[in-house]
Amino acid sequence: MDANATTPLLPEVFEAMRPFWMEHFGNASSIHQQGQHARGAVEQARTQVARFLHCLNSEFVFTSGGTESDNLALFGILSPESAEPAHLITTTIEHHAVLNAAESLAKRNVGAFSPSVQVTFLPSTSEGLIEPAALKAAIRPNTKLVSIMYANNETGVIQPIPELAAIAHAAGALFHTDAVQASGKLPLDLSAGSPLKDVDLLTLSGHKIYAPKGIGVLFVRKNVRLTPMLHGGTHERQRRAGTENVACIVGLGKATELAATWLTTDAPAKLTALRDRFEQTLLAQIDDCGINGGGAPRVSNTSNLYFNHLEAEALVIALDLKGLSVSGGSACQSGAAEPSHVLTAMGLPPARARASIRFSLSRLTTDEEIDEALKIIPTAVARLRELSPSYRKLTEATA
Ligand code: PLP
Repeated sequence: MDANATTPLLPEVFEAMRPFWMEHFGNASSIHQQGQHARGAVEQARTQVARFLHCLNSEFVFTSGGTESDNLALFGILSPESAEPAHLITTTIEHHAVLNAAESLAKRNVGAFSPSVQVTFLPSTSEGLIEPAALKAAIRPNTKLVSIMYANNETGVIQPIPELAAIAHAAGALFHTDAVQASGKLPLDLSAGSPLKDVDLLTLSGHKIYAPKGIGVLFVRKNVRLTPMLHGGTHERQRRAGTENVACIVGLGKATELAATWLTTDAPAKLTALRDRFEQTLLAQIDDCGINGGGAPRVSNTSNLYFNHLEAEALVIALDLKGLSVSGGSACQSGAAEPSHVLTAMGLPPARARASIRFSLSRLTTDEEIDEALKIIPTAVARLRELSPSYRKLTEATA
């Protein structure tokens, strides 16, 4: 139950990729037949991704994943040095791929008379939401880019992206959204008449949608000028130099096609029902626990629960020993003693943030697996609480 960390390759994705590791290994830039075969496969995948996003084939760049796409969005828009400092607005609950890129931009000219980028980090509500009024209030005449994630990787909370993007546009700023955890879970229609029409840049990552790790996409709306980060050949319309990762691009194309189909079936509703059954059963069986972000709209697969009077790290290990993989905080944070920056930004007391676990279901999660998890978790929580002085004190007081 850790699909927000990564997902397995779907067999159809693997089969689509297989020939491009072996017999069709050509470089998509070569003019001979081997090369042209690879080029054809890259362009077919481009069409699949364009259909998934409802955009033009020329409106996105293949990258090495979500981290690169987020960095390319921020540095690509804010890098050009100008006499006037540019202003970036992002949030305190972003993935580190955005947070650390923003901090790096802010620090770039430390000590100089006028720094090239000023950054505002918008606060989160206690439910993990970014309020449109807060964005409106933070906009300045020099705001050049607003970057707000679509669905949070830890809580699954969905931000009101159409409204936030419209506010940015009305103020003359560009809008980027990290849609790594929204893609494959929510429809993404970037066409002119759609609610997402004001989104200028959007990040996708292959390994969250059953494609391989190390491949991603940055959508860049037509007429948005992006300064490349990598300098080299003329690949990807001069926006991202480097020989195309043909097999992974083919895998990503196939995965977007499968995700688009999955979203039109009753499977997403079934996944929501499975997640809700999981949550309601645990909440009924275990005292002093609850859902972080439970009052906000959430993607159907994510459940961030707190079990007061225990340490999440200990529960992660106890569940792992029973064969259940979950995450305390985000995967990249695992092992860190600090409570999650997302839960902290939502105003959770440190003890509750440190007692929080993320369960994330995949498209492949079954009823039987949920039944099994529902057997394992209450026992593990009870065992750990037996060792907890604060829980013992509480039970003695109420006895
Ligand atoms: N953005 C979000 C919201 C994520 O959850 C992740 C990965 O966990 C990333 C960005 C980074 O993507 P990648 O692992 O492809 O670099």
